[in-house]
Amino acid sequence: MASLDSIPSPAYALLVTSAATVIRSRRIAFPEGIREGTLIFRDGRIAEAMPGGAPPTGGALEDLGDRVVMPGLVDSHVHVNEPGRTEWEGFETATRAAAAGGITTIVDMPLNSIPPTTSRAGLRTKKDLLSQKAPRIDVALWGGVVPGNADQLGPMIDEGVRGFKCFLLPSGVDEFQPASEADLRRAMPILTERGAVLLVHAELQGPIDAAPRDGDPRRHDTFLRSRPREAENEAIRMMIRLAREFGCRVHIVHLSSADMVEHLTLARLQGTPISAETCPHYLTFESGLVPEGCTFYKCCPPIREAENRELLWAALREGQIDMVVSDHSPAPPSMKHLESGDFRAAWGGISSLQFLLPATWTEARRRGLPLERLPEWLCTAPARLAGLEGRKGRIAAGYDADLVVWDPEAEFRVEPAGIHHRHRMTPYEGRTLAGVVKATYLRGEKVFESGAFPGAPGGRCLTGASSPDYS
Ligand SMILES: [Zn+2]
Repeated sequence: MASLDSIPSPAYALLVTSAATVIRSRRIAFPEGIREGTLIFRDGRIAEAMPGGAPPTGGALEDLGDRVVMPGLVDSHVHVNEPGRTEWEGFETATRAAAAGGITTIVDMPLNSIPPTTSRAGLRTKKDLLSQKAPRIDVALWGGVVPGNADQLGPMIDEGVRGFKCFLLPSGVDEFQPASEADLRRAMPILTERGAVLLVHAELQGPIDAAPRDGDPRRHDTFLRSRPREAENEAIRMMIRLAREFGCRVHIVHLSSADMVEHLTLARLQGTPISAETCPHYLTFESGLVPEGCTFYKCCPPIREAENRELLWAALREGQIDMVVSDHSPAPPSMKHLESGDFRAAWGGISSLQFLLPATWTEARRRGLPLERLPEWLCTAPARLAGLEGRKGRIAAGYDADLVVWDPEAEFRVEPAGIHHRHRMTPYEGRTLAGVVKATYLRGEKVFESGAFPGAPGGRCLTGASSPDYS
């Protein structure tokens, strides 16, 4: 461990006097582990990240004591739905919720907005909107692969898109049609050549059509039976095969079926470029305990059995699942059909952006996993997926000074009044979670502190040929 004695004093004095901010904590998540240290920010970047004992002198110092300082979270799976369905969510509300949850970058999914991000024109519409909206935190954009848009993939990559989402079965909105294997065969050579990643909603329709449809529609286990693991398993087998054939980087979004963990691991060992994420709801809830008619819990693929959840945790522990992201997918309350409680009719999507960190930590801690595991799952791996490595997701010199300051021992109860996304619904309501976010820094400026959002919104769109820092 370095000490201040090892730092040449003239250089050190220069750093401190010209720095905008110096913070210190006994628990900073450096890449080598959580330890005491000092961070100096200048011009929005981390100028120095110094593990070590004694505090510096000669500059304004904020001593955070025992509070954990971690890289700001990068949530690479968020549905903001703006423009076009802003009544579902929007950049203003989504980025406030993110800031309150310690998230400093979100990557927006290409569907649910109108137009969807499936063409250069659609991408430009969203980028123009972001330049007017000034989000609270940074936003990057995924594109989409849909039938017939192969000629748009290159132009979107030219404009800064680093990856594309596709569905293999109906997405729930007409503007974003599912890709057939033939569509993927047209798209994947383009993505391979340009080094873009294909993100896949991995469920196939066949096993769902063959599944039982009987049972009480107010019960989650009826819904679960209608959406069997085999739908995911078959889709993932197909994607392993195509990733291998085309050498195309593939990422499985929201993995729910633990059946496929060993297949994915074996494929990777054989050199297939494939990765996977899961979400806090698959790591927290179990189908058998979902209250009757409580459609806040509906998502696709579904929350499964307790035994499946524990297998997902084992896979995370072993590094077989790469990251945890929210898949925040809100909708207006009317679309959740709360009066009837009908899982068949309700919109599938869970709202949880603000609770990504505490929900993941609460369940990790319950299983004896240490804090040291969180930065890779929540910050570094999703930054890498989104092509933001080198700038986001680590506490190291040269990275953006994006940080979350939080208390992992403190607990809070999730109440609607404390929710910042547009519709204050979430299956976490009423639960006690561990991990209170105290402050969030974006490029060295506080964007959230003690329940408030200081300063003018200063988030940027990171997707753009005109963003030289990120291109
Ligand atoms: Zn999603």
